[in-house]
Amino acid sequence: MNAAIDKLVSGFKTFHERFFEENKELYQRLVTEGQSPKALVIACADSRVDPAIMLQADPGDIFSIRNVANVVPPYQEGGDVSYHGTSTAIEFAINGLGIKNIVVCGHAHCAGVKAMVSGQEGSPVGGQFVPQWTSIINKGYELAKQKNPGAEGAELDRCCERQSVLVSLENLMTFPFVKEKVDAGELEIHGWYLDIAQGELSRYNPNTDKFEMVAL
Ligand SMILES: [Zn+2]
Repeated sequence: MNAAIDKLVSGFKTFHERFFEENKELYQRLVTEGQSPKALVIACADSRVDPAIMLQADPGDIFSIRNVANVVPPYQEGGDVSYHGTSTAIEFAINGLGIKNIVVCGHAHCAGVKAMVSGQEGSPVGGQFVPQWTSIINKGYELAKQKNPGAEGAELDRCCERQSVLVSLENLMTFPFVKEKVDAGELEIHGWYLDIAQGELSRYNPNTDKFEMVAL
């Protein structure tokens, strides 16, 4: 008896009865014609921020990457690139599928960003992988401190979550094929932030350097 797994299997049965049966043609078309998603969404692995649910996407709409703290690592050439799962998915999305929009979506109460903040404040979290992975967005802490000098505690965490999205946007531009397409006007990159407690989504406006709430 495994109640957690039983719940998942039961969920699949409900999906099959309702959603799959009602959308058989769509699934069939996605197989015969292949997928052509219009956006790559890079979101956190956090169980509360599933982009397909949050954006009410249909199958085939979004190509998603989820990792701890929705991090885009900087482009790396040569050396040991054998385990770059995130970079692999970005490459396939842009060069393989020809996706023309990338959204990096951060969120409030992100444990991954919190791990980065703890590391920056001299109390690194344990773990074999988390400290190194989240150190990719260390600059988010510096940006948060610069832009909100008095912020601390929860306010600082929220600032760091937003600024870390900008670090990932910056890192995206270090991928030559991303930069080339953005410069040519063939690809757009967007920074979003989801406040999970309030149910609010905001989008980064580079002209104001602010995340602006989507009107509901
Ligand atoms: Zn997170």
